[in-house]
Amino acid sequence: MSTISIRNLRKEFEISSGVEVAVDDISMDIEDGEFITLVGPSGCGKTTTLRCIAGLEQPTSGQIVFDDQDVTEVPAEKRGLAMMFQNIALYPHMSIRDNIAYPLKVKGVSKDERNSKAEEAAGVMQIPDMLDKKPGDLSGGQRQRAALARTIVQDPLAFLMDEPLSDLDAKLKVEIRREILEVHKRIGQPTIYVTHDQEEALTMSDRIAIMNDGRIEQFGTREEVYYYPNNLFVAHFIGNPSINTLRGELTAFSEDSARVQTHGQTLELPVDQQFTDRSSGDVLVGFRPQSVSLGDRVTNPLFTMELLLLEPIDDRALARLEGPEGELRALIPSTQAITENEETSVGIDLDSVFLFDADTEELIATTGDAPEKDMSHSLNVE
Ligand code: ADP
Ligand code: MG
Repeated sequence: MSTISIRNLRKEFEISSGVEVAVDDISMDIEDGEFITLVGPSGCGKTTTLRCIAGLEQPTSGQIVFDDQDVTEVPAEKRGLAMMFQNIALYPHMSIRDNIAYPLKVKGVSKDERNSKAEEAAGVMQIPDMLDKKPGDLSGGQRQRAALARTIVQDPLAFLMDEPLSDLDAKLKVEIRREILEVHKRIGQPTIYVTHDQEEALTMSDRIAIMNDGRIEQFGTREEVYYYPNNLFVAHFIGNPSINTLRGELTAFSEDSARVQTHGQTLELPVDQQFTDRSSGDVLVGFRPQSVSLGDRVTNPLFTMELLLLEPIDDRALARLEGPEGELRALIPSTQAITENEETSVGIDLDSVFLFDADTEELIATTGDAPEKDMSHSLNVE
């Protein structure tokens, strides 16, 4: 069994212009067997956090705890972790067999045992025929599998992975994602996975930590971060295409309803959960493109806007709209007959609205029915 606790982790770097705070007081507890993702824009501190957990970077302050043991001062090679990065560092002059078995050789494991473990791991990763080849003879996907095989042989306490799939094409990404999840389940130890891709985070993880500027904005399940984003940053980052917002004013608020004035319209919103005790003032009304309907599908039209552009996305179409209210995005059925450069009526599903404080950008309330907020149907989740 292993759990990982990160306690008040802070990491500063000295740079020519002063001090760069890469990680700013992060705390999180990772349970045994959990698959955790650190996700966020480039430069938000994901790699630095992972390197501190690995022992490749010494924290400025804070602790890293495995089970109940403080390992903050323990060197990387004694932490019992397996790591995988975007740049797969296979040794080019060594066979795949020796590459996979290398961590065991370092530990002084006998040659026979190394060979049998390497063969078993290559079997799991479906590259048994590659064992006597050199890394240069393998495709990108096969090299990635060899790197995964090398992590398996170590019987690690945990897996740490930093954007391991960024260099692969879309189809291979999906395949290797599934293999990483299989390896994770098979070994049953925690995995901490870093990506800047919110979709990857949503499809793979038990829980997701959304990072911004060295801090964690929210740490929760995919349903929590998608349906109950703590703030506008999380709401923008999670979900594709990204959420829409309209400025408005909250004029009445009770336990089960909220009234918002926005661009000359009054919205009566069925409140699901309230997160702050604000009951008036400037708000941002957030709604995902999936919650916008257009043209003759609209039952309660709110606005009339111009349809600027239609782009196909899978079996749907992304519509970009413009009007006095600003710009909006709508995700509509691709079969819907609707024409670019024409005016269309715009409706919003009031059961899927987020209210944010316009100043702090924190979530005030969500609308709709909580039991309907289940994503396992809408995502390709194993
Ligand atoms: P991410 O992996 O989310 O893209 P990083 O953890 O690599 O972010 O970087 C976080 C911040 O710390 C960035 O501003 C980056 O420039 C800075 N940083 C990372 N490593 C170093 C370093 N060795 N020296 C100076 N600054 C660094
Ligand atoms: Mg990084």
